[in-house]
Amino acid sequence: MAGGEFALIEQLRSRLGKVGKGVRLGIGDDAAWLDPAGRQLVATMDTLVADRHFFPDVRPYDLAWKALAVNLSDLAAMGAEARWCLLSLALPPREAGYGAWMEDFMAGWRALAERHDITLVGGDTVATDGPLTLSVTALGLVDQSVMRRDAARPGDMVWVTGSLGDAAAALDLALVERGREGQGFPCSAAQREALEARRLRPTPRLEFGEAAAACGVCCAMDCSDGFLADLSHILETSGVHAQIALDALPLSRELMDLAGEDLERWQRWPLTGGDDYELILCAPPALAAPLRQAAAAQSLRLTAVGHILPTALDMPAAVTMTRRDRVMPLPTTWGHVHAL
Ligand code: ADP
Ligand code: MG
Repeated sequence: MAGGEFALIEQLRSRLGKVGKGVRLGIGDDAAWLDPAGRQLVATMDTLVADRHFFPDVRPYDLAWKALAVNLSDLAAMGAEARWCLLSLALPPREAGYGAWMEDFMAGWRALAERHDITLVGGDTVATDGPLTLSVTALGLVDQSVMRRDAARPGDMVWVTGSLGDAAAALDLALVERGREGQGFPCSAAQREALEARRLRPTPRLEFGEAAAACGVCCAMDCSDGFLADLSHILETSGVHAQIALDALPLSRELMDLAGEDLERWQRWPLTGGDDYELILCAPPALAAPLRQAAAAQSLRLTAVGHILPTALDMPAAVTMTRRDRVMPLPTTWGHVHAL
């Protein structure tokens, strides 16, 4: 990297590190100096590795967007206001250099960062013989309490923002296109484009996370590894069970058309597919009206998909799934092999 490293850092500073709220000292010194102004800090970090978390041929714009979005989604799930980010870049040698690459990368980062007024305040830049690797640390602020995974209680309703499964369907198409293992299916160019946009540029639900916490919601997490897998984290840590109505799950128009009555597709995409970056919330019915109002104010789809039950010995699994009011079998695997 040597000389190039400093030019690159200067580019990042001038384009992404503009002085923001609470930044006493940003990129350029040994560390950033930040002022949370009496509020409490929430911190998260996510790493993306080429060929494991993203296709090496990804457009740098989309890569930057996603690296930032997945971190902001974690802050959203806590109910925090996102403020500052740090970015670690491990860059393998590249014949064409990183000039044009960085331009596009910074444009993608900026597009999302500006929406939420987020400042890049530091990071690290190194050369590597390994795959391109990006780590982002995101810092946010809360006033009182955060939303946590272990706070679901019997009687709570289970809510999901936006829609589920688009990214997983798009990943199937992307895998098949690259000659890898995936499930191909016929779809129109418009459908494909809509799904692909959701896979490449997820929307972190920051505004709604904050609004939900302000409404008094105590339990939430973001859905990144598949709805069932993530819901099961809430259920395990909270020591409860849940009943979920398959028919209630929110699907985009595109995915609804493509999944139709095909249960295998429902299981593969909205139930166990990953990379949705929607929020799952559990809250008492008394919060239903304020939550619906908050969502409507943001023109965000919010769907009640089931409710939390006490654990019962005669329930074999933590989730009971119904379809047309009848209990249906669950998929055998809930987990998700991290998208790439
Ligand atoms: P040091 O050697 O003291 O760790 P560096 O030379 O690594 O400092 O970094 C100089 C400054 O540039 C620091 O403020 C650091 O936070 C910032 N910086 C380095 N790489 C990045 C990056 N990828 N993104 C944002 N800021 C960065
Ligand atoms: Mg130093």
